[in-house]
Amino acid sequence: MARTVHVVGAGLAGLSAAVRLAEAGERVVVHEAAGQAGGRCRSYHDPALDMEIDNGNHLLLSGNHAALDYLRTIGAADRLVGPPHADFPFADLKSGERWTLRINDGRVPWWVFDRGRRVPGTRARDYLAFARLLRPPPDAAVGGLVACAGPLYERLVGPLLLAALNTAPFEASAALAASVLRETVAVGGRACRPLIARGGLGSAFIAPALEYLRAHGAAVQFGRRLRAIDVADGRVATLQFDEPLRLERDDAAILAVPSVVAVALVPGLQAPSEFRAIVNAHFRITPRAQTPSIVGVVNGTVEWIFAFADRLSVTISGADRLLDTPRETLASTIWRDVATVTGIGDIETPPPWQIVRERRATFAALPAEERKRPGPQTSWSNLWLAGDWTATGLPATIEGAIRSGQKAAGFARSHLTASTR
Ligand SMILES: Cc1cc2nc3c(=O)[nH]c(=O)nc-3n(C[C@H](O)[C@H](O)[C@H](O)COP(=O)(O)OP(=O)(O)OC[C@H]3O[C@@H](n4cnc5c(N)ncnc54)[C@H](O)[C@@H]3O)c2cc1C
Repeated sequence: MARTVHVVGAGLAGLSAAVRLAEAGERVVVHEAAGQAGGRCRSYHDPALDMEIDNGNHLLLSGNHAALDYLRTIGAADRLVGPPHADFPFADLKSGERWTLRINDGRVPWWVFDRGRRVPGTRARDYLAFARLLRPPPDAAVGGLVACAGPLYERLVGPLLLAALNTAPFEASAALAASVLRETVAVGGRACRPLIARGGLGSAFIAPALEYLRAHGAAVQFGRRLRAIDVADGRVATLQFDEPLRLERDDAAILAVPSVVAVALVPGLQAPSEFRAIVNAHFRITPRAQTPSIVGVVNGTVEWIFAFADRLSVTISGADRLLDTPRETLASTIWRDVATVTGIGDIETPPPWQIVRERRATFAALPAEERKRPGPQTSWSNLWLAGDWTATGLPATIEGAIRSGQKAAGFARSHLTASTR
């Protein structure tokens, strides 16, 4: 049989690795434990709402170049939609104020000097203080470099970093915050346009990738849980699924599973072990025509409201404090915020709803966890790692997951090329 790369895990890291390899003409087999692909970025039919929803709303920015490149390769670039410029409507539930942050397209940040574009209640010089975050010393936390207080922090920097890092910014890694800011806000509005998969994550990131893989001769197998890895002579010899899969001399494997699974499979592997939750709420209601596709909310339980054709969905990051709140209480509290911001429905009576709590949504973006992230290489010559938790330099995001998969694919390719010389 032709040399094969076995990709274990069909989340975005595994899929992007498989797509990269299939594109290059390699023989690929993807093994996924679940009955569907997508991992933490998936759509499914929800019986309570009787509609297809995403496990969580996913926001990308137009500066996420690897994600956009992946979508172009699988023919799905048009599945992400967003405004033509980096405009972010906000609502403050305490003061009742509304404003739209408008980051100008180019690199020179003149939006900071324009009262009509910047955050209300802030001065241009307030923004200078946060420039310190762009070049942080190693191991610093955000709270050690800037004051996590004041109108600019509460109305912009805090919400932005919490969404990107899924960790309270005060304790979060300044290096990870810096990498997000350097690739987006510091580049200008052209890299900050908010993008969402209006037709659902599955129809943008997953179904077209599976289609692409099939069309390129790759096999994707579901219900295939990797249980152990046998090694011999410095390489992986067998992948133990329910039955053993022996790797031939030229074969390679990419392990694209969550960090807790990878640690159990790969002896001696160190990886992030602290996580943060994300809570999403979905309400089956048709939003009013003028509702923006995404609204930032400050001083509420809700942080971001996403408007789809048939529902309003809410994201709350770093949401471990809400994991034990009864679902009904959570739905009512969240709906009150949503109804107030969007001006729709009866504030006291939520429409049909669903609450999705992802306990281990992402690793905690703390300096100590950042230090534990391994690169793609392992001690075995034919095994590489991928996943949003590997050392991508980014927090746990779609962009990071896709970059990690592409990088692991690059290593596997060079190995295959070298071994056939
Ligand atoms: C609610 C929520 C909201 C989010 N919001 C955003 C956002 O707005 N923007 C953003 O960029 N990112 C967001 N993220 C993060 C993003 O979803 C992840 O970073 C990304 O999906 C991780 O992909 P991955 O492939 O690294 O891991 P995973 O998606 O976890 O994929 C791992 C795969 O491995 C499979 N697997 C596990 N064990 C085995 C085994 N033993 N054998 C075979 N297969 C196995 C799993 O079933 C899974 O399919 C969010 C995440 C969540 C949960």
